[in-house]
Amino acid sequence: MGLGVPDASCCGGIEAGGTRFVCATGTGADDLRALVEFPTGRPAETIARAIGFFNDARDQGADLQALGVGSFGPLELDPARSDYGHISTTPKPGWQDVDLVGQLSRGTGLPVRIDTDVNAAARAERLWGAARGLDHFLYVTVGTGIGVGAWIGGRPLHGVRHPEMGHMLLPPDPEEPAGFGGICPYHGGCAEGLASGAALVARWGRRLEELPEAHPAWRIEAAYLGTFLAALALTLQPERIVIGGGVMNPALLARVRDTLRARLAGYQRALAAPEAVEDFLVLPGLGGRAGVLGAIAMVAVPDARG
Ligand code: ZN
Repeated sequence: MGLGVPDASCCGGIEAGGTRFVCATGTGADDLRALVEFPTGRPAETIARAIGFFNDARDQGADLQALGVGSFGPLELDPARSDYGHISTTPKPGWQDVDLVGQLSRGTGLPVRIDTDVNAAARAERLWGAARGLDHFLYVTVGTGIGVGAWIGGRPLHGVRHPEMGHMLLPPDPEEPAGFGGICPYHGGCAEGLASGAALVARWGRRLEELPEAHPAWRIEAAYLGTFLAALALTLQPERIVIGGGVMNPALLARVRDTLRARLAGYQRALAAPEAVEDFLVLPGLGGRAGVLGAIAMVAVPDARG
């Protein structure tokens, strides 16, 4: 597989999510050697637990070379800055200004690379999953929050900071319950504020999969996601969009394909037919392992560093 590490050695990866941490050792999708998941609690104890996992793996003989991290954010990703690898203005309580890279490198003694959780997942899907070999694609997660990793021209898209497409402002649905303006503490009704798992619970009091498919929640969710994805498709012209996260399921995917096609309204001729949209908008190939595999790939697979 063109790995960048000697056979006997391996790398560590962390998917640092807002809800759970996934830590693993290995070299890729065919070689995951140890893996642990635990809830994301307070920063000190959560980071200590991750450090403990890798130090234990070493004690048991793992020859760890480096650690890759795909994290929730926002993150400072410019290595020239003194706050490189810090989480910045996250709404997650207690995690503002946490020096994630510094704590992990001091605690493990390993070189650490970091990227957004969605860019990490996109890397893994490109190497081993539903976007294999594609140079222009998006990885979208609809979970507790909404995030997008954009791979354009064969590399992750970055401006001065990493993109924040999950905070794209959306027009309110005509059937939005009165008084619900979205839950994003910064924007109210952005995509994350209106269509994330946390928004669904705030609006309806339950998760989407706990509501019958005839409930208006399903139509409204599909309408928001279709509008969101149409804007992304028109802006970035990806070959494919991989959409995962805890909110997504096959029934919702089918509805979102329909609303995406309706929003594009034939303007993108390649996406005018339902079969074309089925190939364009797909679930992840790696399921819930994309994030941690992508984190490992950042340090284990030279071509995937991006
Ligand atoms: Zn927002």
